[in-house]
Amino acid sequence: MSIPPADQSLADGVRRGDRRALARAITLLESTRPDHRPRADALLNALLPHTGRALRLGISGVPGAGKSTFIETLGLHLIGRGQCVAVLAVDPSSSISGGSILGDKTRMERLAQQPAAYIRPSPAGGAPGGVAGHTREALLACEAAGFDLVIVETVGIGQSEATVAGMTDLFVLVQLPNAGDELQAIKRGAMELADLIVVNKADLDAAAAERARATLAGALGAFAAHSRGGRPPPVLVVSALRGDGIAEFHAAVEREAETRRSSGAFAERRRQQALAWMWDTVHAGLLADFHEHPAVRAALPALLADVAAARIAPPAAARALLDRFEH
Ligand code: GDP
Repeated sequence: MSIPPADQSLADGVRRGDRRALARAITLLESTRPDHRPRADALLNALLPHTGRALRLGISGVPGAGKSTFIETLGLHLIGRGQCVAVLAVDPSSSISGGSILGDKTRMERLAQQPAAYIRPSPAGGAPGGVAGHTREALLACEAAGFDLVIVETVGIGQSEATVAGMTDLFVLVQLPNAGDELQAIKRGAMELADLIVVNKADLDAAAAERARATLAGALGAFAAHSRGGRPPPVLVVSALRGDGIAEFHAAVEREAETRRSSGAFAERRRQQALAWMWDTVHAGLLADFHEHPAVRAALPALLADVAAARIAPPAAARALLDRFEH
């Protein structure tokens, strides 16, 4: 795939760590204009050989759990140790309500001021690779730009947790020290996704945080007994506001990553994610073609009305549409 000279110099800028080049590259990768797509694909291919070195960390939790405070404190801690940290915020609310939960510019202000940090909201809707296509592309661009850690943040609602877990090496759930929320998280199946759990705001009530940790560790231990190879995810107590437990969290992340690297699980997860990304993109492309197909569009209103009024069985209507698409 050939890349225009201007985009090659954009790729070179990204590789040098030039933030403006990185921002422009991500804007191109996020573009929904069909005529931008071949350029975006060529750019991504040019960056690909320079990706893969960062640790990809997914972070989720309900609004107010302290995600942005936690990411800021963690980011500043790592920058203090000489690392570069990128944060991509996937905001599912932007596609659901048109509003924004994560887009608020006042979040992570201190981190945003650091030259070694890069923070960017990632639009969730309308991406070619399914919901998360753009974020995956932005993540690779950040890696090519030399970031040591790329954090993908999302609010713990809907499908966004599974989406983010599906593009990161380790998925972290930020919890409040409150039994109701723990049980909610367990019910939602977040337990299956979480590689690490953080009980935040321990400064408010240390005893409650410890109780929450023990309850979660117990539940996860029982769950891990018949899945996950018997290894429950570590549960850590932190105060993002005060910075307590952040160094321990980082050490736990490094330990988890190292265990997985040496077992091969780390590379295998990335391989599976790359394949899933390709298929997601194929499926999204087929779906878009289907909806734009003239014969499908012509038949759709009547068939929708027939299905809604129970005049035709839904699978028969679906097949009628697929027949039009295929012929
Ligand atoms: P997010 O919606 O999950 O990103 O949560 P924020 O990071 O915006 O935090 C929500 C509120 O909780 C803010 O008022 C924070 O200052 C506060 N907060 C976050 N972490 C802590 C903590 O460790 N201790 C206390 N006491 N408050 C915290």
